[in-house]
Amino acid sequence: MSALMPTYAPSDLAFERGEGVYLFANDGKRYLDFCAGIAVNAFGHAHPHLVGALKEQAEKVWHTSNLYRIPGQEKMAQRLVDNSFADRVFFSNSGAEAIEGAIKIARKYHHDNGNPEKYRVVCCTNAFHGRTLATIAAGGQAKHAEGFGPLTEGFDHVAYGNLNEMRAAITPQTAAILVEPVQGEGGLYGAGPEYLKGLRAIADEFGILLMFDEVQCGMGRTGKLFAHEWADIKPDVVATAKGIGGGFPLGAILTSEKAAVLKVGNHGTTYGGNPLAMAVGNGVLDLLFADGFLPGVVKIGDALGAALEGLVKKYPGVFIEIRGQGLMRGIKCADGIDNRDFKAKLETKGLLVAPAGDNVIRFLPPLIIEQSHIDEAIAIIESVVAEMIGD
Ligand SMILES: *Cc1c(COP(=O)(O)O)cnc(C)c1O
Repeated sequence: MSALMPTYAPSDLAFERGEGVYLFANDGKRYLDFCAGIAVNAFGHAHPHLVGALKEQAEKVWHTSNLYRIPGQEKMAQRLVDNSFADRVFFSNSGAEAIEGAIKIARKYHHDNGNPEKYRVVCCTNAFHGRTLATIAAGGQAKHAEGFGPLTEGFDHVAYGNLNEMRAAITPQTAAILVEPVQGEGGLYGAGPEYLKGLRAIADEFGILLMFDEVQCGMGRTGKLFAHEWADIKPDVVATAKGIGGGFPLGAILTSEKAAVLKVGNHGTTYGGNPLAMAVGNGVLDLLFADGFLPGVVKIGDALGAALEGLVKKYPGVFIEIRGQGLMRGIKCADGIDNRDFKAKLETKGLLVAPAGDNVIRFLPPLIIEQSHIDEAIAIIESVVAEMIGD
């Protein structure tokens, strides 16, 4: 028996090393990694630029705390600001912490404007915002909240993609809207640019903040730095994490000047944005902002989408539809096909994927994949399908 708390039921696989889009297990077997640590390893495994950045920093200074200036933070924040809607950045360690900070910003913004009664946040059903007390309340999923009551007060839920419901849910107590531009864990729903534009209009009409959870869909996953950019709108607050550290724990809250309400003493973190994280984070931005990189993600994302669409056409009894955008794709399994079971079968044949809600198999490959990796993945999926339908 393991001394670990059994909060996960992991596969028996353990990996020894990785190289680009592949992972190698202790038994020497090679796996094509279309999970990427759940959208984290944006540049695959052991990318020389990121390894170099980490090693170089590791020999200088690891940690100083935020009681001292951290030049890597100033540099990374400026680069994010120069390339996004944002004017200010706060670095955290994880996605849930970034969302917690966003929620604090929503409350503080209205407090500072003389409206402390505005504290509620409208979120969507089937959302995922993390596993802390406030973020399980924001996510609103019973399976994450059960047993942890009383839940943090102040969250309302409406159907994802429905602007009428959103509008109707705004009350004099509402402080902000918090939505994932593309839902990740919930099953790879993206409600599209018109929905995001509609959210902006509602937030403006009621004088509340528009906050996006781009923990999973941000940092180039859809082929733009942030997924909301496809709608050509500016949010007030964005929380991001996952891909931003390429595998080093890192998150960030980005805000416009208007929403930059956190001042000295209002918020903090011991580790967040430490020199090691900033060395890797700046390395990630070097790669992400390289000329032509993000347009390349759009292209290869379209290729992955087309390949998965082909599977739906070819095997209508196995797959129902594809979902998602860029390199954040899902394929919904038909009734009678269990996504977790299918994932396990893919794993035995050397392809790693992640499950998602609504019986969806999630493909979150590193942003550096090529057509040959897509071809390899499709061949593995087809071989599992062939065994299932008894060829
Ligand atoms: C993963 C995720 C989170 C939580 O991030 P952690 O780093 O696990 O705390 C929040 N929101 C979304 C959309 C996520 O995908």
